[in-house]
Amino acid sequence: MKPIADIFTLLHEPRTVVITTHQKPDADAMGSSLALKHFLSQFGHHVIVISPTNWAAWVNWMPGAKEVIDYDFSKEKADQALDKAEWLFCLDYNAFSRTKNMAAKLESLQCTKILVDHHREPDEKSFTYGISDTSKSSTCEMIYDFIIASGHVEKLTLEVAECIYAGIIGDTGSFRFDSTHAGVHRLVAHLKDLGLKHSPVHESLYDNFLENRLRFLGNTLQNRMEVFYEYNTALIAIPKSDLLKYYIKTGDTEGLVNYPLSIQGIKLAALVIDRDEERKWSFRSKGNFDCNTFARKYFEGGGHFNAAGGHSSDPLEKTVAKFKQAIKENESILQ
Ligand code: 5GP
Ligand code: MN
Repeated sequence: MKPIADIFTLLHEPRTVVITTHQKPDADAMGSSLALKHFLSQFGHHVIVISPTNWAAWVNWMPGAKEVIDYDFSKEKADQALDKAEWLFCLDYNAFSRTKNMAAKLESLQCTKILVDHHREPDEKSFTYGISDTSKSSTCEMIYDFIIASGHVEKLTLEVAECIYAGIIGDTGSFRFDSTHAGVHRLVAHLKDLGLKHSPVHESLYDNFLENRLRFLGNTLQNRMEVFYEYNTALIAIPKSDLLKYYIKTGDTEGLVNYPLSIQGIKLAALVIDRDEERKWSFRSKGNFDCNTFARKYFEGGGHFNAAGGHSSDPLEKTVAKFKQAIKENESILQ
C-alpha cells in the first residue's frame, strides 16, 4: 500500500470514482463518504457513494445521502457503477469482509483501491494507496486531514464541514472518548470559523427518533440487561420478538451498548441483537480491556481497543452462553 499523499497530484485529472464504506454505515462511515464525495466533485470527478446495506434514518439529513446506492437493494445499478470505477475509495473499514454481500465484487475489481481508515489490523495488501491510523478519532478526521494535506482548503465547503462534524461526534461520543485528542478540537474550531452550525447536527443525529424507540429503550434496560459484578461486565441481549414488538429499524439500537457503562465499576459492556441473518455483537470497554482482541477471538469481529463488534451464526442463547464463558476466561483482566 503506497502513501495516500501519492494521489494528491492526480486529483486534477477527472475520473470515475466510487466511494464505499462498511455495512450498516454509522455517522462516521456515511459522513466521511459524503464529505469526500463533495470534496472530489469540485475537481470534476464523477463520484458515486455505495453502501453495502441500508442505513439509519438519522443520517438521511446529510447532504447527498439521498443519492447513496444501497447495494443490497440496487445490486445491478451498484455493480454497473463499480465496473466503471477507476478509483475505489474504502472508508471506515479495512477488510472487504466488512462490506458483506459486496465483498466478492470489491475483491474482484482491478481498479485503483484507496484506503482511509482508523481500525486495527488493516488488510494492507488489498489496497493500492491508503492511510490506516488507529490514533485518529474517526475516518471523518482523516478526510479533513486529507483535504488539508492536499492543499485544497478552499474546497472545504459547509456541506463538507457538516458531514465531517457528524462523523467526529459520532465516533468520539461527542468528544468524550480518549480518542478525542487536542487536534480534534482544533479541527472543530476551524470548521466553526468556516461557518459550521453544530447544534443542528447534534439534533439531527440524536433528537430524531420516534416514540417507540424510547419505549424500547425502557423495556431493554428493565428486562434485557444482566450485570455480572464479579466480572465488572454487563450484557444486553435483545430477542427478535422485541425488535418486532417495538418496530425497531436500522439505527434504533445505536448507542444502546453504552448505557451499562454508566454503572459504577463496569469495565465491559456487551450488546447482542438477534437479527434475521446473524447475531450481531457490540462491545465497549473502559480502561485496559481490549475489545478488538476479544471480538476477534470469540465473535469473528474486530474494531478498536475500547469499541468493537462481531457476529455469530449461533442461536441467541448459544452465543450468550459463549459470551458468559468468554468473560470467565478473561476474569483476570476484567477484575
Ligand atoms: P458497533 O458496535 O458500533 O457496531 O462497532 C464498533 C466498532 O467495531 C466500529 O468501529 C465498527 O466498525 C467495528 N465493528 C463492528 N462490527 C465489526 C465486525 O463484525 N468486524 C470488524 N472487524 N469490526 C467490526
Ligand atoms: Mn469510524
